Amino acid sequence: MRWGLLSFLASIMIFMGSLPGISQIVRQPIPDKLVVLTFDDAVSTHATFVGPLLKKYGFGGTFFVCEFPPDFEDKHKYMRWEQIQQLARMGFEIGNHTWKHTHVNTISKARLEEELHYIENKCETLGMEKPVSFAYPAYETDPSAIGILQEQGYLFARVGGDQAYDPEKHHPYLMPSFSTTKDNRDQIFQAFQQAKEGKIVVLTVHGVPDYAHEWVTTPPALFEEYMKYLHDHHFQVIAMKDLVQYIDVQKALDTIEPAF
Ligand SMILES: [Zn+2]
Repeated sequence: MRWGLLSFLASIMIFMGSLPGISQIVRQPIPDKLVVLTFDDAVSTHATFVGPLLKKYGFGGTFFVCEFPPDFEDKHKYMRWEQIQQLARMGFEIGNHTWKHTHVNTISKARLEEELHYIENKCETLGMEKPVSFAYPAYETDPSAIGILQEQGYLFARVGGDQAYDPEKHHPYLMPSFSTTKDNRDQIFQAFQQAKEGKIVVLTVHGVPDYAHEWVTTPPALFEEYMKYLHDHHFQVIAMKDLVQYIDVQKALDTIEPAF
């Protein structure tokens, strides 16, 4: 009788484990008020303003770097590689945003590999960790990129979409995010309220301010207001790769169909 009960319970557990959504994608409960900060395009103000401010609050963050054409050499607009290296030394994650900010839906498999490898090689040369997070330039995705990112050992890849990330539902290579600009303050504060019930809020931030692309600029005072709010309301603010403590990426890759 007793053994019968045990084997009954065991079969229920095996059955639950095989159901999508009740798998072990989530390793440990995701706390409310969990925010991932990401910064795109290697903008100069990431080194001069954002990094020190995050440090002040003890926040983590991911800097998605590329050599943005045509004027990556303009160091008023973009970071020097030494500054990117310095952010890594400060403990921030450096993620891959392709070599030349190339939209992945416009190129061959070989070219995407080349674009990824350029940034990986640059990191290796400068004594930085191999990137494990990727952000799609211009949020443009392509089904072919999924297989390539997996082959190349990436853990997460980020898109736009303005919704909270649900690790039980969203493919880890199609992680949605909210983008900050100069005029969507209300939307961002509403987004912060969605970091609960297993959902994580991921922010995409460009320059603070952005001297290269004015339409994605975030004013420093507004960004500071966001950071102070997250601090004062006891949010946990981490880099993208830190999500592995909560998410079994392999399980998620095996279980969730990418929805484009
Ligand atoms: Zn970008």
